[in-house]
Amino acid sequence: MSSARTVCVVACACALLATPAATQAPSRPAWLEPYRETATRLIHAATADHFAWRRLAELTDTYGHRLSGSENLERAIGWAVETMRRDGLEDVRTEPVMVPRWVRGRESAEIVFPLKHPIAMLGLGGSIATPPGGIEAEVVVVGAFEELRSRAAELRGRIVLFNTPFTTYSDTVAYRTGGPRAASQLGAVAALVRAVGPTGLRTPHTGSVQYGQGIPPIPAASIAAEDADRIARLTARGVRVRVRLTMEARAEPDVESANVVGEIRGRERPEEVVLLGGHFDSWDVGTGASDDAVGCIITWEVARLMVKLGLRPRRTVRIVLFANEENGLRGATAYATRHAAHASNHVFALEADSGVFNPASLGFSGSAAARNLVRDIATLLAPLGLSDIVAGGGGADIGPIAQAGNAPMMAYLGNAGRYFAIHHTPADTIERIAPEEVSKAAAAIAVMAYVIAEMPERLPR
Ligand SMILES: [Zn+2]
Repeated sequence: MSSARTVCVVACACALLATPAATQAPSRPAWLEPYRETATRLIHAATADHFAWRRLAELTDTYGHRLSGSENLERAIGWAVETMRRDGLEDVRTEPVMVPRWVRGRESAEIVFPLKHPIAMLGLGGSIATPPGGIEAEVVVVGAFEELRSRAAELRGRIVLFNTPFTTYSDTVAYRTGGPRAASQLGAVAALVRAVGPTGLRTPHTGSVQYGQGIPPIPAASIAAEDADRIARLTARGVRVRVRLTMEARAEPDVESANVVGEIRGRERPEEVVLLGGHFDSWDVGTGASDDAVGCIITWEVARLMVKLGLRPRRTVRIVLFANEENGLRGATAYATRHAAHASNHVFALEADSGVFNPASLGFSGSAAARNLVRDIATLLAPLGLSDIVAGGGGADIGPIAQAGNAPMMAYLGNAGRYFAIHHTPADTIERIAPEEVSKAAAAIAVMAYVIAEMPERLPR
């Protein structure tokens, strides 16, 4: 479980770590001529209006956040199944997944000495509660794990604040996932973690915390960068800052949820699958519009556009809205288990879980032979400004099945700075997302998926 979580917490960002290494392809590879007209039609259909953005608004306005185990998520799943069927997708179904149910409850934090000052905070997902009256203790501020260890003698009975400035998600998130565990090992009674994201507008960022086996769990919360800095400045002046943290968070028994699946059945090789998707669950703040409702909507759009244009490629195009990426990765695991016997029939897998913010790019992981073909196909995306392929495709949800089937993987990569500014925050709402960014992403994925599903030979592994 803990190793699965290690994958999942970096999921939304793993593809963003790639070194941009764009390569040049000929501007009009001859083998693509038969696909050029259809690619143009797909791009026109995707970008002619704001359909995808309106659908994203309908989803997030009607159902709100979609935390695993919540009624919101189950109602949204029902809507997605019904709407996919209305779109004309085939074999629309749910595949059951047991998911954790964590409930935030009421929560607060405040500086109580040298003055009373409320702290902008969000409990970390999976955190335990404090005692009903809260935990009040002096704060020890550290900037890194090394500093934590060097000050081990000071930590017993204290609240540790990890005040680590955001660099990249993958580097900084280690303090959110592993900081509380490390602090507990050294005797701390609670942990605060500076928000993992660019400094916002006094914005805490939630996300999973990982407790270790045999290490007592302690309450853990994210606090806004401004509050973390204030506490750090006070302590640097020698002030013994005291904080009270109060949290009601609790874990309840697992509940049944589901992956949502819809297809365009392949006309010649239906057993070969081009897998596209995102995760339908979100954190319980904001509406999870960028993480990852939009990833679900733009991949689903691929199938809707194919129905609309009367396209039935040679291979099956399968859309999966995965369950429980954020705090368990159970949907990804369940899909890989259920489809294990057919893993090698997955010819290509694409995940959209990095937003759609411009400037965006496409990341790819696969053999050199596959990469050359994908690079050629990307020349069809020149009208969208997406003709470069960068290194590093994949995603937490498609990872298990793609690894089992050794399938080439792609990620749609929205701009990381804009993505992480609102990631796991109350500000993750549709207001941040421009309709044109959604349409463009859907168009790019549609063209890529169509050609890979249609070309005579399967994409090499
Ligand atoms: Zn995500």
